[in-house]
Formats: sequence, structure tokens, C-alpha cells
Amino acid sequence: MSCINESVCKLCRRENTKLFLKGDRCYTDKCSFERRPYPPGQHGQQRIKFSDFALQLREKQKTKRWYGLSEKQFRRYFHDATKSKDLTGMALLRNLEMRLDNVLYTLGYANSRREARQLVKHNHVLLNGKKANIPSLLVEKGDQIELSEKSRQHTRVLSAIQAVSRRTMPSWLEANHGQFKGLVKDLPSREEITVPSEENMIVEYYSR
Ligand code: SF4
Repeated sequence: MSCINESVCKLCRRENTKLFLKGDRCYTDKCSFERRPYPPGQHGQQRIKFSDFALQLREKQKTKRWYGLSEKQFRRYFHDATKSKDLTGMALLRNLEMRLDNVLYTLGYANSRREARQLVKHNHVLLNGKKANIPSLLVEKGDQIELSEKSRQHTRVLSAIQAVSRRTMPSWLEANHGQFKGLVKDLPSREEITVPSEENMIVEYYSR
């Protein structure tokens, strides 16, 4: 993920929530946010009263970082969402959620969205039987996702599948880990999109 550097744990502390950017480590007591649940920096533990703008900015940043996107990419998702018939905030989250890399992660074939993105980029994924190496590709209802033969013994894939019980599988997806497959059964509802964001505040941020 181009915009995420090595100190990803600082991003969780900055956003005051776990963004699950480091795979396995996020579920252990080595998680930096569990140990220091306050923003990084000298004034991190001070109580600060945020302005409306600052709160909106944080919601936008948190969501962008959750999905591992750059500002330019995220803005483009927002722009597309404004053209949707659905509410803009919902359309934004739904499109982010239906990115191929996010779906692969949610199905349990990667320990993080970053890892899922690498799997897609390196030709480990088939969408409806055809190679799909674009992480931002949006899946549709009825789509079949499958790992290529060569990646089925990949240690990272196997460890992700073993660890998948730590996460809840949303009802809009169906995973068949025995066959390394997944199915998009439906569109995700808001309740099943787990990003801890208030999408209305993101809309307000971009509507200033
Ligand atoms: Fe965030 Fe904790 Fe994972 Fe680091 S280990 S990325 S602080 S959830």
C-alpha cells in the first residue's frame, strides 16, 4: 500500500482505533494501540477539544487508512460515490468494501489488506476463472473469487486461513477455504461494513 510506511501502528494510535494493518500482530498483546491507546507524540496524552473540521478530517483519514488508500485514490472514490443513486456516504463505503483486495482479506485469504493487495498484484487471484491483478477492481454480486493453484500452498495464505476464526465472516460473502474459493452473495449492508467510521462526517468534510 503505497501510502503506508513502516510506522503503521502510529496510524492506529493517531486515529484512536485499531486499523488492523499488521496482520497477526494486531491480535496479540504486542499491538501498540493496546499498549499505548493514545496519539503519538509529546502531547499525545493531553485532552484536546476537536473542532468540527478536525473531527471530519479524522473520520476521513481513518477510513482512508483502514483501506490503505492514498488521498488521491480516496477522493476519487468519494467523487464516484456522489454520482450514485444511494446516499453518498453509503455508496462510498460500499465501493471501498467491494474492492477485490478487501474482499480477499475479508474472505480470510490474507492477514491484512496490504497482504491481500500483494496477492492480487502478483497474479495469485482469479475472478470468475480469469486472472485479476488489479486490487481496486470492484466485485459484483455473483462473482466467484479463487486462489490460483500455485498460491494454495503459500505459507501466508495457509496461516491466514488458520487464523480466520478471529474475524466474523459477513453474510454477503461465502468462503470455501477447502477449495480456496469465495462467492459474493450480495451487496454489503451498512451493518456488515466494519470500518469504524461515520460516513456522514466524511461527506461533510468533502462538502465544505
Ligand atoms: Fe494497529 Fe495494533 Fe495492528 Fe499495530 S498491531 S497496526 S497498532 S492494530
